[in-house]
Amino acid sequence: MLVRVDLNVPLRDGAVADDTRIRAALPTIALLRAAGARIALCSHLGRPQGRDAALSLAPVARRLAELVGTEIALAMDSVGDEVSRLVHALSPGQIVLLENVRFHPEEERNDPLFAKALAAPFELYVNDAFGAAHRAHASTEGVARILPAYAGLLLERELAVLGALLYRPARPFLAIVGGAKVSSKLAVLQALLERVDTIAIGGGMANTFLAATGHPIGRSLSEPDQMPAAERLLDAAERAAKAVLLPMDVVVAPSVDAAGALRAQVVAAGGVPADVAIVDIGPRTLELYAGAIAAAKTIFWNGPVGVFEISEFAQGTRAIARFLAAATARGATTVVGGGESVQAIQEAGLAAQMTHVSTGGGASLELIEGRTLPGVAAIPDL
Ligand code: ADP
Ligand code: MG
Repeated sequence: MLVRVDLNVPLRDGAVADDTRIRAALPTIALLRAAGARIALCSHLGRPQGRDAALSLAPVARRLAELVGTEIALAMDSVGDEVSRLVHALSPGQIVLLENVRFHPEEERNDPLFAKALAAPFELYVNDAFGAAHRAHASTEGVARILPAYAGLLLERELAVLGALLYRPARPFLAIVGGAKVSSKLAVLQALLERVDTIAIGGGMANTFLAATGHPIGRSLSEPDQMPAAERLLDAAERAAKAVLLPMDVVVAPSVDAAGALRAQVVAAGGVPADVAIVDIGPRTLELYAGAIAAAKTIFWNGPVGVFEISEFAQGTRAIARFLAAATARGATTVVGGGESVQAIQEAGLAAQMTHVSTGGGASLELIEGRTLPGVAAIPDL
């Protein structure tokens, strides 16, 4: 059977730098092996323009073989005679990994002939690639229209957890939304506003909200063209009697780098000097957000609340991660979704202390926005 997994992992020096996504695929692989399936795993890696040796899945095949504890052959391609030969030679429980499916531009175009070629050697298709489910590509959508298609365990769990979050959350339901830009999160914010009781805003996007509510923000990252949208969101929240928490104090620095970190200081949200940038939320804001977290029964977090890539500006983000870990421990449901947010929580070593850390950054946000994920829609029983 053809099993689409998300093995799109970061590489460093020709090796897997972070195997989280490989590990996330293991339960489905184990289940299928135990059932005696002959398994061809398919994934993309990065954004190659045609065949690109630097984006071969070879390092992934090595790490996967270690984790599964069996030999795993890597096919030279994702379609063609060699794949057919390797697949037909598999014995029950054996695995072959197909080479990066994006070496073919037809994959992202969801080319029907390419989907047909992908499906050709197989009788069944299992999709466990939640992280790619928001893309209508040949290996996520096209093949599901050709072969009998089923969801893997990871896909199933992501949909169950995120679905429960959206449709039957224990209340109070708090969303913490940070990250760089309002523009990329507006749809998420609007969708969350309809479901949550409270939204706490941080990160670069908070600057636009602060500016929209008349606070000086100096040289902070902001999107002046999004100020009307920020105002509309605050109005909508007020009409719906939802609380929107904005930073009361912030960490500011003359430059967003290590040199700037040496001259960072905490100021009130109303007192940001003209020649500095906001880089993190301040201690009083953290207290306010900690209170909201302590009161909540369901918490969704997306987006770091500061420039966490610079250690000195990661204090707010790390503290939020710790508050969430404590919330999980007292029985609250804590869900983290996003690219950098998940990275931050892993760097803090707290991923295991969340109810759920989504493996799909873009996919989880699109799901929360209420959009249909093509890779999910193509599976009949979901
Ligand atoms: P996610 O991937 O979790 O959805 P985003 O991609 O929206 O998050 O945003 C992550 C980025 O936001 C990080 O690279 C971080 O440096 C940046 N960021 C957070 N706070 C600020 C800030 N105050 N100023 C500039 N950038 C910020
Ligand atoms: Mg991101």
